[in-house]
Amino acid sequence: MINTDVAAPHGSGEAGKGDRIGKRPEDRAGANLPDYEQAVRTFSWAGARALLDGLPGAGLNIAYEAVDRHVNAGRGGQLALRWIARNDTIRDFTYSALAAQANRFANTLVRHGITKGDRVFSLLGRVPELYIAALGTLKNGSVFSPLFSAFGPEPIKARMTIGEAKALVTTEAFYRRKIEPWRKELTSLERVFLVECSANPPPDTIDLAAALAQASDVFDTVFTRPEDMALLHFTSGTTGKPKGAVHVHEAVVAHNVTGRLALDFRPADIFWCTADPGWVTGTSYGIISPLTNGVTMIVDQAEFDAERWYRILQDQKVTVWYTAPTAIRMLMKAGAGLARKFDLSTLRLMASVGEPLNPEAVVWGVDAIGKPFHDNWWQTETGGIMITNFLSMDVKPGSMGRPLPGIEAGIVERSNGGDLREITKPMAMGELALRPGWPSMMRGYLNEEARYRKCFADGWYLTGDLAMRDSEGYYWFIGRADDVIKSSGHLIGPFEVETALMEHKAVAEAGVIGVPEPTAGEMVKAYVALNPGFAPSETLRKELIGHARQRLGPAVAPKDIAFRQNLPKTRSGKIMRRLLKARELGLPEGDISTLESEER
Ligand code: AMP
Repeated sequence: MINTDVAAPHGSGEAGKGDRIGKRPEDRAGANLPDYEQAVRTFSWAGARALLDGLPGAGLNIAYEAVDRHVNAGRGGQLALRWIARNDTIRDFTYSALAAQANRFANTLVRHGITKGDRVFSLLGRVPELYIAALGTLKNGSVFSPLFSAFGPEPIKARMTIGEAKALVTTEAFYRRKIEPWRKELTSLERVFLVECSANPPPDTIDLAAALAQASDVFDTVFTRPEDMALLHFTSGTTGKPKGAVHVHEAVVAHNVTGRLALDFRPADIFWCTADPGWVTGTSYGIISPLTNGVTMIVDQAEFDAERWYRILQDQKVTVWYTAPTAIRMLMKAGAGLARKFDLSTLRLMASVGEPLNPEAVVWGVDAIGKPFHDNWWQTETGGIMITNFLSMDVKPGSMGRPLPGIEAGIVERSNGGDLREITKPMAMGELALRPGWPSMMRGYLNEEARYRKCFADGWYLTGDLAMRDSEGYYWFIGRADDVIKSSGHLIGPFEVETALMEHKAVAEAGVIGVPEPTAGEMVKAYVALNPGFAPSETLRKELIGHARQRLGPAVAPKDIAFRQNLPKTRSGKIMRRLLKARELGLPEGDISTLESEER
């Protein structure tokens, strides 16, 4: 029974029993996780590990599990990746073909002196070479670090410097615009491989297509231990530089089993993850999880377009679709009528992640497509899905669902003495916390031990998110406990934006916040105080936005800038972003006891 007339208010008191989309007995019976309570009781990480092969001698390698395992088991002929180019051309890769290309890439790395533990970065759109590079890097025992291609030169430089990049795979156009101007400053960077290379490539670069063509397609996966570093994903905090979350090969145990349980992967599935591999979702669930589960992945090179997306869902007969709230809201804007023009009957699970999914969007899915969106929650640090609305479970629109088997979640609060106290009362707000110990948990922030340690207290990992749990164990997202901004699903550190603005000669101080925006969730807005000799004007506002876009890229730069005489600061000189936000939204200013008096 699908009850379409649900109207669950987001975070509404004790979750009402009627505010749910019920599931039919068939949904429960056919699901990989048919009975939640039983799965929680019987699950073990050792059991999850046993689903994978491993390497002889207690080794484990993500890429081996993603491609070679299937080839060795006689499933090499199955379609692994269908790539749809912007112009609709299709390129198909079977598991064997993908393994062969990854081998060529690994051999290319070896030939150029890139070995185990070396950091290989990518700065690419969704092109086949990205998937080949990711798998080939992991097979070589090197560490793969994907960057978002819409980043400007500064976020790229900051991340490659922290990560001590030894190699980079990018396009000639990106290289010329975003890397070449500062390349000499990064002495660790020895090799740059260019996809789409012209007849006159820039000096000190390698034509990747030519290198792959010369390389052998046979490669013995380098022996890696479960605790060897495999992936480096950058994320933002409220202060300081971006943080490099370190993930190890053992993460594949979680990537694989969460795909099976939360995304309900089955061998014949055709899966489309719309996330860009420049972010963690696009790697964990846009590469590793679907491949380890042996499904067929669809990758679309083009940017969002409502009609194109429905056409892909229909023509490619997608069965499991993993997308994001901003995209769902854009589809809603295009209207349910458009969705109904397409035959989307092959879809059996629609899931969403990355930002709050409003209950209206969940219900809209039922109305327009015949199925609810299943929200789930996780973050760069957790490496994989932690909380989800399982296919077999009733969906409560507005809730992120329940913890995966093997994951213990809790709502905690700090007492005055600094200790943590778990809150067990239903629908009481606190910080979402997780008991550490699952395989895809980050093993550290690269070279930032103190920042890493701050994430843990009293045996809990603190997520930085505020949430509530209802009496049935469903979690409800409330907001961030810190100042980081989520815009179109991208996590943006205000400090990085403030730093770029401060580089402009007119800017004395900058404070950056996220303001609510109906489609993107939040929009980056900056407040600036000017240096003597500069006066606020429309021309200067535009110049500052242009300056920020050039340095940071359009995904990170502020969309709006407001001038202020002074910015509210604490007595120790820290800009009070929280207060800027309260004033922007006309909300109570809260505790302002630390505010510097002359700022009032
Ligand atoms: P990232 O590390 O970039 O993946 O961002 C993780 C953050 O995104 C989380 O800490 C949350 O603040 C937010 N987030 C992820 N999934 C959800 C969700 N389902 N609902 C609300 N916020 C989410």
